[in-house]
Amino acid sequence: LEARFQRTQRLESLGQLAGGVAHDFNNLLAVILNYASFIVEDGRDTAFAKDAEQIARAARRGSDLTHQLLSFARREVIRPRALDVDTVVTEVHQMLQRSLGEHIALTIDTATDLPAVMADPGQLEQVLVNLAVNARDAMPGGGNLTIDTAAVEVDTEHAAGRSGLAAGSYVRIRVSDTGTGMPKDVIDKAFDPFFTTKPNGQGTGLGLATVYGIVTQAGGTVQIYSETGLGTTITVLLPVTDAEVRVPGPAEPAGTFSGQ
Ligand code: ADP
Repeated sequence: LEARFQRTQRLESLGQLAGGVAHDFNNLLAVILNYASFIVEDGRDTAFAKDAEQIARAARRGSDLTHQLLSFARREVIRPRALDVDTVVTEVHQMLQRSLGEHIALTIDTATDLPAVMADPGQLEQVLVNLAVNARDAMPGGGNLTIDTAAVEVDTEHAAGRSGLAAGSYVRIRVSDTGTGMPKDVIDKAFDPFFTTKPNGQGTGLGLATVYGIVTQAGGTVQIYSETGLGTTITVLLPVTDAEVRVPGPAEPAGTFSGQ
């Protein structure tokens, strides 16, 4: 439990640091991008303009990376509410299918009548997208990606075997791929911010750190089961809430009180 606490603390201070740096850095990149664009326009098709185009391209890439940093730092306001996991999974289904490409077969296997969990829907989407992107990157030659959900009970014995997990009712989300798998030393470091094995700046090392932050903040756990050459399964457990799922309708403005 102590180790888990320390990891969360470390993630939090790293997040704050990353957020601050990313914000300032993004402003600098905007200046670089602006001036590079001026040169591209003024220089027409000269060699200068071509060089400036390279500068603009690098600045744009830097800007993409800082946006990832900002989302890791979780600057946005989080609004947890009781929600149905399957609704969120179904909503991201199409988006995922498109970003995966045709060489990866996506199977979604949702349980019906899942109990509700307390989470921010945007963040839960982010968890699914990050895990799916990693699965895609692990299957360059194609393969199968399966996302399934279920209601599970964790008894005291199982809880004791998994640090930080309390006995109780959970919704389980599993994201499985038939990709490269991960050797043990990679599994051990996979949740560390900025740890990546992807070459040429293709990874930020923030995907799983973000997943870890979101899931633990929602009171859940995330575990990696992986075997090299066979594939990887990431299991997310989110505690069940008694609160009822309410879909806020347009006729019901937020912050209205009754009985006044
Ligand atoms: P990034 O994707 O930017 O590298 P992540 O934190 O998402 O950062 O992942 C860290 C590392 O964990 C990856 O570089 C990769 O080595 C490994 N990894 C994550 N998910 C998978 C997966 N589904 N299959 C194989 N390796 C994975």
